[in-house]
Amino acid sequence: MPPASVKSLLETMIHHQEAKVLRIARDVIPTLTPEDIRNPDDFPALLGHTQFNFEDGILAGLKSALMAIRQQKVTVTSGDCHFFPRRPIYLDNHATTAVDERVVGEMLSCFTEQYGNAASATHVLGRGAAGVVETARARVAGLIGAYPDEILFTSGATESNALALGSLAGRKGHIISVLTEHKSVLDTLKKLELAGNRVTYLPVDPDGKIKLNEMRAAINSQTVLISVMMANNETGVIQPIANIAAIAKEKGVLVHTDATQAVGRVRVDARELGADMISFSAHKMYGPKGIGALWVRRGIAKTPDLVSRPGTLNVPAIAGFGKAAEISFKELPQEITRITALRNRLWQGLREAIPRLELNASMEERLSGNLNISFTGVDAQSLLLALSDEIALSAGSACLSASRTQPSHVLVAMGMTRARALSSIRFGLGRFNTGEEIEYVVDKIAEIVKKLRSLSPSNILFPKFV
Ligand code: PMP
Repeated sequence: MPPASVKSLLETMIHHQEAKVLRIARDVIPTLTPEDIRNPDDFPALLGHTQFNFEDGILAGLKSALMAIRQQKVTVTSGDCHFFPRRPIYLDNHATTAVDERVVGEMLSCFTEQYGNAASATHVLGRGAAGVVETARARVAGLIGAYPDEILFTSGATESNALALGSLAGRKGHIISVLTEHKSVLDTLKKLELAGNRVTYLPVDPDGKIKLNEMRAAINSQTVLISVMMANNETGVIQPIANIAAIAKEKGVLVHTDATQAVGRVRVDARELGADMISFSAHKMYGPKGIGALWVRRGIAKTPDLVSRPGTLNVPAIAGFGKAAEISFKELPQEITRITALRNRLWQGLREAIPRLELNASMEERLSGNLNISFTGVDAQSLLLALSDEIALSAGSACLSASRTQPSHVLVAMGMTRARALSSIRFGLGRFNTGEEIEYVVDKIAEIVKKLRSLSPSNILFPKFV
């Protein structure tokens, strides 16, 4: 189709949606004229993708809604003022997050204006780019209460983890970690074992937590490092890093934490935490992919890898990371409250609509946006597939999702049976989710689970359980 006709088709669609909005709105404000909503470009920018604040007045809400329609972010699906977001509804925020528009805005100028090489000190464009990097470094450091010179930019948390653990290579020591760590940590630990290090993998209880006394008992005279993730990427379980660090300090052992799922989602203060190295990543906090950081405490002995990273700095990504960190720092308290309420609504809705659900890991000390649920008698892959056009979800880590015939190592470590682990779904709610989405997700999942259970052979034989 030539571009002109695509454009006119779009115009017609937008026009149709506007007419629909006007009709809905006239029920509320009978005096509303088409002119009242003709020029939404003058109106304040949208705060979120689908947040229309009708409490500020129906007209303001309407204008925001129209703007979103014009930008093709939402579609009007019913006649009673409900604006459903465009499909799919994104509930896979542990895998990655959408980039916040404010972050995109910050990055764009680095492509077209501040495009210098940050190492080119001889001219103004290079110095400008270096300034952008330093502003971003200060913002990223500010998010975790660190000094800017403690931040090493990396390509993401995978590299941060490899650097943190790899800095011990050659020391042939003993490392303590946990069975439920992310693949990027487990893979690096395997390499270190092959190179002659010894690793103790601590077990977790059914709630996914380690036991501090077991950790203390595992420390010996050879122990050089303890690496425990702060928040789990499948269950959202938060480990007591400050307590771990206090014990490690008594024994003179360094502590690294993979805080990729925690930074930007719970308050993380590097100094209060007491760890020595912290890995995190921009794309879990509404920043771009391919940029992360390793925080390395001032004063600890550093290998050259922990001091600087070779190569031209990715200035747009670093600027985006900085903006994402600045936004997270400012908005975190409200965001936690809002997302916790949505998550609780989702859990309550699902529990009321679907029998035989099991919550994996306790609701205490868990990321606000996380739920991990076993849908007894339902194969998680079938459920995901049935939902996949409308609701973006996963069974666990994105890094392992291609091979999901095996149960999650995290759920198995928590003591779950293979069958229960293979019926589990991970929900990751985030900044752009809305209450309307949650209502829709509950209804949709209830419908599909009912269908899948009714098709399962055991339920055909024993229908009372459906
Ligand atoms: N650690 C955890 C806990 C993660 O969730 C992820 C991302 N899935 C990583 C490390 C790797 O992060 P990145 O994608 O930035 O390399």
